[in-house]
Amino acid sequence: MKAAKFDYTKTNDVAEALSVLTAEDGDSKVLAGSQSLGPMMNLRLARPDRLIDIRALDALKAVTQAPDHLFVGALVTHAAIEDGILPDVTRGMIQHVAAGIAYRAVRNRGTIGGSLVHADPAGDWPAALRALGAQIVIDGPAGTREAAIDTFQLGAFTVALEEDEIVRGVRVPALSGSARWGYHKICRKPGEFAESIGAYVCDPESGIARLVLAATEDAPLQLDTAAAAIAQNDGAKFDLDAARMALTETGETFDPFKLRMHAVALHRAVAQAYGA
Ligand SMILES: Cc1cc2nc3c(=O)[nH]c(=O)nc-3n(C[C@H](O)[C@H](O)[C@H](O)COP(=O)(O)OP(=O)(O)OC[C@H]3O[C@@H](n4cnc5c(N)ncnc54)[C@H](O)[C@@H]3O)c2cc1C
Repeated sequence: MKAAKFDYTKTNDVAEALSVLTAEDGDSKVLAGSQSLGPMMNLRLARPDRLIDIRALDALKAVTQAPDHLFVGALVTHAAIEDGILPDVTRGMIQHVAAGIAYRAVRNRGTIGGSLVHADPAGDWPAALRALGAQIVIDGPAGTREAAIDTFQLGAFTVALEEDEIVRGVRVPALSGSARWGYHKICRKPGEFAESIGAYVCDPESGIARLVLAATEDAPLQLDTAAAAIAQNDGAKFDLDAARMALTETGETFDPFKLRMHAVALHRAVAQAYGA
């Protein structure tokens, strides 16, 4: 199947992209790596009237390092992160996550911003960046605003982004030398979307401990009570039963197979973090 008819605008200016988004009638969508939007349009699950190609926007390709974070422009590709082109402020976590997304052809084009906005429940960046506690930087007609990732993804394929806004990039907090992380993805085959994702980040210096489950039918689930207990015990007591208990205590319902699979993903993420 091929995409329905659409208009196409290419721009190399953020203000112009925003003004087209605001001014034109009908449903306009920005185009980044096209690795999610393209297939959806070809399947006619998405039928935008107009595509605004933002791939020439240099402002969205910027990578800048500050003492406490790394700003990663929305158009930075999974492959660029995989290849270690960016400074490593997460002790290798974002490089590891990028390398596990789909296969190289998808990673060459797919972008971190596109992944966050697409908000697939099984997407890697929504899970990993939530565990890291990232901030999303958003440009709109009223200027630039920031949103904590915890409040950005509202549900499956739904984010708190207005139709006339563009994601400029993401601030990834820098981890200290004593920080630990684990990321475990369960897939049927390499290159496929995850059946379950467990992500854990603990940084004693900043007092952060985050445990995240993704690849449910909703936005990533944050298990704060379990994360605090894991950090306090250095992961020692977080066995499979504890993981299952932590999931049950969230109040979410999972069928027995999924409960076990999600518990395994969480348990292995924590075990990886503590080298167990
Ligand atoms: C075969 C295959 C396997 C895949 N496997 C995985 C996987 O294992 N894990 C995973 O995480 N992902 C996977 N993906 C998805 C991939 O990571 C995509 O790259 C990503 O979801 C979307 O990024 P994109 O740059 O291609 O965005 P696009 O497809 O161009 O856009 C996606 C959506 O985001 C919007 N958008 C894009 N950029 C911006 C922006 N800066 N501001 C505002 N809105 C924006 C678009 O309008 C559109 O609605 C897979 C894709 C394919 C084709």
